[in-house]
Order: sequence, then structure tokens, then C-alpha cells
Amino acid sequence: MNPAASPLENEIRRIISVAGPMPVAQYMALCLTHPQHGYYLTQEPFGTRGDFTTAPEVSQMFGELIGIWAATVFRIMDSPAHVQLIELGPGRGTMMRDVLRAAQIVPKFRGGLSVHMVEISPRLEETQRATLANVDAPIEWHRSLDEIPKAPCIILANEFVDALPVHQAVKMAKGWHERVVGIDDDGNLSFGAAPDPIPHFEKLMPKAVRGAAEGAIFEWRTDNVPLEIARRVRERGAALIVDYGHAQSDIGDTLQGMDMHAFADPAAQAGRIDITAHVDFEAFGYSAETMGAAIQGPVMQREFLHQLGIEARATALKERASAAQAAEVDSAWLRLTEGGRTGMGELFKAMAIADPKLGTLPGFDVFEV
Ligand code: SAH
Repeated sequence: MNPAASPLENEIRRIISVAGPMPVAQYMALCLTHPQHGYYLTQEPFGTRGDFTTAPEVSQMFGELIGIWAATVFRIMDSPAHVQLIELGPGRGTMMRDVLRAAQIVPKFRGGLSVHMVEISPRLEETQRATLANVDAPIEWHRSLDEIPKAPCIILANEFVDALPVHQAVKMAKGWHERVVGIDDDGNLSFGAAPDPIPHFEKLMPKAVRGAAEGAIFEWRTDNVPLEIARRVRERGAALIVDYGHAQSDIGDTLQGMDMHAFADPAAQAGRIDITAHVDFEAFGYSAETMGAAIQGPVMQREFLHQLGIEARATALKERASAAQAAEVDSAWLRLTEGGRTGMGELFKAMAIADPKLGTLPGFDVFEV
């Protein structure tokens, strides 16, 4: 056994030696959410000392604009006497804190809501409890969405779907083979392909990606999350999904490791680094539509925040700020809306899944990606 290996790596090695190579999705699930050694259960993911920075951690403007979005959606829902405000994968709880502060502009919404945090990590639940300690609203924690009773709801998820396990298949001479994690000749974990192709896989793929060349990789997630979201919102509710990914299903290997803000080999350091994959918004939306919910977007995060009024919000914050704080507001605004490799404006997209009766929701007037 390699002494430098993480405890999870040794455990995965044991599983593989008994059961053979495991699908990428099983590997990713173990890396992120293994009850003792999983990344989200043991590490500090966020901020300059963590591995990555998310939009709510960049600036309070992000959560505040989403709070105004939620309050407006509440009105479009005809102001139900009670509404659940659900967040999936709330990280440090920063976004919910900013959402609730901004939601005060609609007192009927703020006064009648109950907060539901869906968080798999007891460690992060503690952080969220501390962040929300002074909030005057009922708050409950759940390990999964299906634990929450069904009621009129607004669901928020920022950088949650990218952390859900992804399957990969690789095109070879005889068809598409599931990509797996095994042990190579040097004893390290490494990617490979299952010996037999997945029967009829090509027929199950979206039309646009059939006929791909050998070596192509296709990714997919099980659709239980979009189905469960749609089941809840289709009667009287709406969900906002913000994440990085592509508007149309496509081929490509987007599995990435993140260690201290740098890309890292996802097969190394199991449980010590973050592993994610891009969101296929077309597939996610399609699953939700089959359950009777309506889809809006995806639109680029830049466009979404622009339509919600990020310029006015930044200007208002700067009026009350010192020169140094004003410069911070400007750089956060750029980071949230810029394109390219460093900006979140183009790679990140927003999509709504909603009760079809609600019509167009704020931020989705322009269906541009
Ligand atoms: N939304 C936050 C955090 C994003 S990181 C932000 O934008 O800052 C992903 C979050 O989802 C973490 O809180 C992680 O613990 C949680 N998470 C990951 N997989 C999960 C699962 N299967 N069920 C519930 N929460 C999960």
C-alpha cells in the first residue's frame, strides 16, 4: 500500500481489487461524498485558502440579486401564504444569507417563508448554521431533496449540479464503453474502459452526438435530481439552476480536479481534491420537461445578472463605499460577468425550471446562450 495515498484512495483500491474497475460516476461519488473520507465531508473547499471560489463568495451582489429574483417569482406565483425557500448544496450559507436580506423588499415573502437547506456534509451544515445564526426565519437541514414535504416552493442551486456524479463513455471500434477507474501497472488509480461496449448506447444518445469519432467521450448524469425538482415546481413553484456547462449536449471530457485553485489530475489524491464535471443543460432541462415543468434558458450568467440589474446594484453599493471598497465592487462585478477563462459571465449559465403557468421569469427575457 502506497504510504502517500489518501485513506480514500486505499479504500477505493480495496474495492477495485475485489469488484474490478468502477464506473467514473461511482469513483466521483466516493471522492466527493464518502461518509468518512469524502471531499465535502472533510476538506475546506471555499475561498482563497480553499480550492475554488464561487459567485456568492465573490460578492454579496450575487445573492442579493437572486433574493430579488426569488421575491419577484413569489409575486408571480400569486403570493402563496406559505412558501418553501429551498437551497441545494449551500456551501458556506453565504448565498442564503444575502438572499434573505434582499428578500425583505417583499415583506409578505420574507415573513411567510420557511428555509430548507439540502446539504450532504455535516461539516458544511455547521458552517451554514453559524452563517445563518441571526436569521429570523424557520430553517431546517436535510440530506436530500426528497426528505422535504411537497409544497409551493422556490428552489435555488448554485454550483450544485456540477458536483453530482457523471458517467462517461468512450467511443471505441465496437461501440461505446463505460469509462472506469482501475489500477495501472504501477499500482496507481487510472482511467480505462470497460471491456464490453454498452448495448444500444448510440440509440440512447442525443441525436446531435451520434456518429462521433473513435476516442470521443460522452458524459451523462442520472436524472433523479431534475425529475425531483420538476415534480416539486410544476404545480406552484420555480427553480433556478446556475452552474458552468454547455447549453447543448455535446461530446467532450469535462471531468476536472481542483486543488488550491489549479486544475489537478482527478485520478490522484482521492477525497483530498474537488472533482466536478460541466453541466449538460439540454439534458437536465429535457428530464425536467418530461415531468411537466417548463424550462427557461439557459442564458449566460452575464445576461442573467444584467437583466436583474447588476449595474444598478453595483452603483448603489459604490455610493456608500470607500475608494478601496468601490474598486472591490468593480472587480467583483467584472469577475461575475466577464467572459474568457477568468470570468464567470459566459461559461456559467442560468436556467429556470418552473410551473408552466408562471410565464417568463425575471432574467429570462432573452433566450441567448
Ligand atoms: N452553492 C455553494 C456551494 C457549492 S459547492 C456556493 O455557490 O458557494 C457544492 C455544495 O453542494 C457543497 O455544499 C456540497 O457539500 C454540496 N453537495 C455536494 N453533493 C451533494 C449531494 N449529493 N447532496 C447534497 N449536497 C451536496
